[in-house]
Amino acid sequence: MSNDPYAWIEQSLATIHKANWYRVVQTIDSRPGATIQMEGRSLLNFASNDYLGLAGDERLIQAAITATQIYGAGSTGSRLLSGHRELHRELERAIAILKQTDDALVFSSGYLANLGTIAALVDKRDLILSDQYNHSCLKNGALLSGATIIEYPHGDILFLKTQLEQRDRYRRCLIMTDSVFSMDGDLCPLPELIDLAAQFNCMLLIDEAHATGVFGETGAGCVEHFNLTGSPLIQVGTLSKALGSLGGYVAGSAALIDFLRNRAASWIYTTALSPADTAAAIAAISIVREEPDRRQKLWQNINYLKQLLTQELPQLKLLPSESPILCLQLADAATALKFGSDLKELGIFAPAIRPPTVPTSRIRFSIMATHELSQIEQLVEILCQLNSQVHFKI
Ligand SMILES: *Cc1c(COP(=O)(O)O)cnc(C)c1O
Repeated sequence: MSNDPYAWIEQSLATIHKANWYRVVQTIDSRPGATIQMEGRSLLNFASNDYLGLAGDERLIQAAITATQIYGAGSTGSRLLSGHRELHRELERAIAILKQTDDALVFSSGYLANLGTIAALVDKRDLILSDQYNHSCLKNGALLSGATIIEYPHGDILFLKTQLEQRDRYRRCLIMTDSVFSMDGDLCPLPELIDLAAQFNCMLLIDEAHATGVFGETGAGCVEHFNLTGSPLIQVGTLSKALGSLGGYVAGSAALIDFLRNRAASWIYTTALSPADTAAAIAAISIVREEPDRRQKLWQNINYLKQLLTQELPQLKLLPSESPILCLQLADAATALKFGSDLKELGIFAPAIRPPTVPTSRIRFSIMATHELSQIEQLVEILCQLNSQVHFKI
């Protein structure tokens, strides 16, 4: 036996390689947008969470520059010590107005918002019921909390209800779900979840990471989309997707937010969001409010792509989607990787998503408001071209 305590790392990497699960970063050399520069070429970008095209928007960039000039590059401390600026409060008020909640709290990322919130709300005396396809940060938040965790099969309300029969054995119960499932693109059954939570005296946490700015009349998210604004919910989300910046948030009742400011370790013991990120997010929220046509263009693009695919490639195996995320199912990890690299060769950037992130391998396309209709047509043409090659038939 080797006496190198780190030898296992190389072995573990070899196993990852063998399963075709090995991952590498890909460098983008331009501003984010519908087209990007990669490896010296221009590619059509179907890989971004920047649904409204705001990450490269001049107004966000200028807001970040101005805030940096006034307040500096770093926030220098945690919010409760030296890190708090009026900008943070301004952003929290803007989020609360968008979500129509009492208040909101901004974290350094969506991941940290979920970790800190879940671990603050429940402990080992409590029960968590979690959708099987929830994002990694919900799952890890649940583990961190020490609560009993039951994963219910994806979207299975009947199963969830049977598990709730044991609700009374626990002190508190937290049901948690993504609203738009990030690697599939479908929606959670929010009205049914709200009913069950009320019936069984449970808290309900909904992660609106991919829905904020995208769903609902004003872009507030799936809660608004389902006409459930004002429901007693814990809404978590990110500033880094449709809002084009960086950071996360929780929106909810005044008591909830006050409690989190005192109990969420991932908020208390970490450095406050930078002035640049904070100011960019504030600018993004006002654009979401003032330019609903961006959201309309996004939905027009989504519907156009779906229509073209049904028309031209009815044999493609697409996962059910009700969002800008559209997944093409493929046989295995190796096929997904090959498809991804062939797409790139033909000028399309869209990532292969493989286990362990998801149970089955796929290519994940995300649509933006800033795609031209001709660019969507180009994607479909290239998919037709690839589909005629025998090895991609599933
Ligand atoms: C992206 C994502 C997060 C994490 O947000 P970050 O701000 O990137 O940390 C959390 N939940 C879901 C569902 C996501 O898709």
